[in-house]
Amino acid sequence: MAKYDPKSMKADEFINDAEILETLEYAERNKNNAALIDEILEKARPKKTATGCTCAGLTHREASVLLACELPDKIEKMYEIAEEIKLAFYGNRIVIFAPLYLSNYCVNGCVYCPYHMKNKHIPRKKLTQEEVRAEVIALQDMGHKRLAIEAGEDPKNNPIEYILECIKTIYGVHHKNGDIRRVNVNIAATTVENYRKLKEAGIGTYILFQETYHKESYLKLHPTGPKHDYDYHTEAMDRAMEGGIDDVGLGVLFGLELYKYEFAGLIMHAEHLEAVHGVGPHTISVPRVKRADDIDPDEFDGGIDDKTFEKLTACIRLAVPYTGMIISTRENEQVRSKLLRLGISQVSGGSRTSVGGYTQKERPHDTEQFDVSDQRTLDEVVRWLMENGHIPSFCTACYREGRTGDRFMSLCKSGQILNCCHPNALMTLAEYLEDYASPETKETGYRMIEKELERIPKDKVREIARDNIGQIRRSNRRDFRF
Ligand code: SAM
Repeated sequence: MAKYDPKSMKADEFINDAEILETLEYAERNKNNAALIDEILEKARPKKTATGCTCAGLTHREASVLLACELPDKIEKMYEIAEEIKLAFYGNRIVIFAPLYLSNYCVNGCVYCPYHMKNKHIPRKKLTQEEVRAEVIALQDMGHKRLAIEAGEDPKNNPIEYILECIKTIYGVHHKNGDIRRVNVNIAATTVENYRKLKEAGIGTYILFQETYHKESYLKLHPTGPKHDYDYHTEAMDRAMEGGIDDVGLGVLFGLELYKYEFAGLIMHAEHLEAVHGVGPHTISVPRVKRADDIDPDEFDGGIDDKTFEKLTACIRLAVPYTGMIISTRENEQVRSKLLRLGISQVSGGSRTSVGGYTQKERPHDTEQFDVSDQRTLDEVVRWLMENGHIPSFCTACYREGRTGDRFMSLCKSGQILNCCHPNALMTLAEYLEDYASPETKETGYRMIEKELERIPKDKVREIARDNIGQIRRSNRRDFRF
């Protein structure tokens, strides 16, 4: 039987079934142990240091105890600390992105995904480079600067060369003041060589959802195709890092399996990356299975209600304090509002999950990957964020200034966010307001910018940011950054 070892490079050893089962037993035994829970909560709380702030994070065992806990006052405390951590390391900024679906050709048999190979009643579509350009122009006209590209797995239709060509096209489109400055990539597990090519193409984060950490279920949920190989899929992030990508994004598709098992696996995966590569996941996404063509989410065993989903999100925030946390438009406005207070730092907005969806007047459903619950426009999402005290940020500076991997984590820990990320967020928000916002959003935005400029601690930085924002308003100069 495989033995648990976070430093091992073998999937069965760093995501170890026996260790997860023991963890779940331990968590169940201690779920009402108030003294232990207080101790864990104290450990999770951010502590001030001479240069900034630090946060210990939690082990998968500690975090699993919190997730199992049902004591209302302790859950309240978890939520308080989750927000504290979010504010300490990410401030009140929320990074905005949109997915761009390139192709829904797929040779896999994932039973939860409408793109599975046996689905004969969805049209298959792959964007040409001209169509990619048109989609990117539509996204730029909305105000997007950061994309996550998505594609099914199909070596013939979507080989790595196709993905690389699309990335090049995307970075090459400059329409009016528009610019896509960071392309994150969500494609199937691949080879070190291909990861190296993605790195060379200038991608931001490589995102790959584990879907489920439960191997037996994984094999059943992915009955056919290359994705059936659990080990190859689970070890993908190590290959990505070997290929030079140091920002990787983890995620579980919640609803497929029992959430407590998934949660322990996810935290173990983060621990593994930290133990082996010295840097944890750049982001963690928390998608839930949604209705889609051919897919009924109720057919899966692990569905979780909104309350449980909130606790789960807060527990991830406590366990992995420096990671960015992403919530997509799979969730509706209410759920997103609540989760934004529990540690989420990135949201998608104005998303279309169909291939070629952004260039169509009406939201198309025929090639959609899943139902989008939050169907508001980007302008509405931006305004809503501001009305709730969050700064919508279109910033992509870190990765373009080489602050990736452990350098990003150091910035996060250094407490320099208010002198660096905060002004960057305000300057990119000003770009959005000038170039794309409705009059109402523009007014709300500039009110927020005025207030938030005052929070920049260094006089010099505040002056420069104010000056740059003035230039953005008066001219077409764009892309200022610290
Ligand atoms: N094809 C790539 C792969 O296999 O990893 C990634 C792209 S896929 C378009 C992106 C993600 O969408 C998948 O990893 C899966 O978690 C999610 N997804 C698939 N079906 C879904 C559904 N019915 N509801 C919500 N999310 C879904």
